[in-house]
Amino acid sequence: MHSTPVVCDVCKRREAFFFRPYSGRKLCKRCFSKSIEEKVRATVSKYKMLKFDDKIAVAVSGGKDSVSLLHILAKMEHKCSEASVVAITIDEGIKGYRDEALRIAAENCRKLGVEHHVASFKQLFGCTLDEIVRKMRAKDDDRTTPCACCGVLRRKALNITARKIKATKLATAHTLDDEVQTILLNIFHGDVLRIAKEKPVTDEVHPKFVQRIKPFCEIPEKETALYAYVKKIRFQSRPCPYASEALRNDVRLMLNRMEDKHAGMKFTVFKSIERIRPAIEGIAREEGLISCSECGEPTTERTCRTCQMLRQVRS
Ligand code: SF4
Ligand code: ZN
Ligand code: ZN
Repeated sequence: MHSTPVVCDVCKRREAFFFRPYSGRKLCKRCFSKSIEEKVRATVSKYKMLKFDDKIAVAVSGGKDSVSLLHILAKMEHKCSEASVVAITIDEGIKGYRDEALRIAAENCRKLGVEHHVASFKQLFGCTLDEIVRKMRAKDDDRTTPCACCGVLRRKALNITARKIKATKLATAHTLDDEVQTILLNIFHGDVLRIAKEKPVTDEVHPKFVQRIKPFCEIPEKETALYAYVKKIRFQSRPCPYASEALRNDVRLMLNRMEDKHAGMKFTVFKSIERIRPAIEGIAREEGLISCSECGEPTTERTCRTCQMLRQVRS
């Protein structure tokens, strides 16, 4: 006895392979990937992320989210003759991990015909993440985790590289999950006013700052992974050896458990914050960007976090 295949709710022809709980729709592979591409287009236009002639630098780590974003933005660029897309990969210097990701990022860029720029912590800051972690561990310094250090240096490295190649926008693949986790983490850390800053489009102004955009901010992580799978995109799946942000992992698990029980909950948190963000911005300290007293890069403090961190490592 054959069971009748479940049909896609959109095209009503092809076989459905995915049920989207928060919309109640069953989708075939083609309609699913089209829905992701359309959602990115809608997000870009809703938050006014791009201008017609932008040079967009996509931060490509080699993981599923960033490689999928590169594919979608490269596809969008083909339809817009004056915009251009390039990729930036930052080599943090994590032995046995980043090397494979770099190869995968390069391979995807080659396939898409996208210019690929690689910059390393070693070139920019004089040391690899492995060396920083070794030094911190030797000093019994557990004030800063490898991920916290990596995040600060990577943000800086991306900005410097994007500026160097004259990109006008820097696109990162933060998903809905990343955004909601960060909102909760800011609350758990008691740093609630920081929520005002983590926007889909940054509005900080400084001659050395490249505006950052997050075209995946309304797409669940599960779906960016599925997009890569449907499109047969190659990405790195091996986890980073330092990936152990205990609190973020707890928050991720908690949110996923709640989402399973209450579909759409991540969207509700994200949208609630979007609604109250103007009020938070109102009470947040007016923190414009200034130039770091040591390296001259944009920062909100007298000395940027990168310089503070590198001083801590070298001391
Ligand atoms: Fe950097 Fe942490 Fe990501 Fe590894 S898991 S690449 S250390 S932020
Ligand atoms: Zn369909
Ligand atoms: Zn600095």
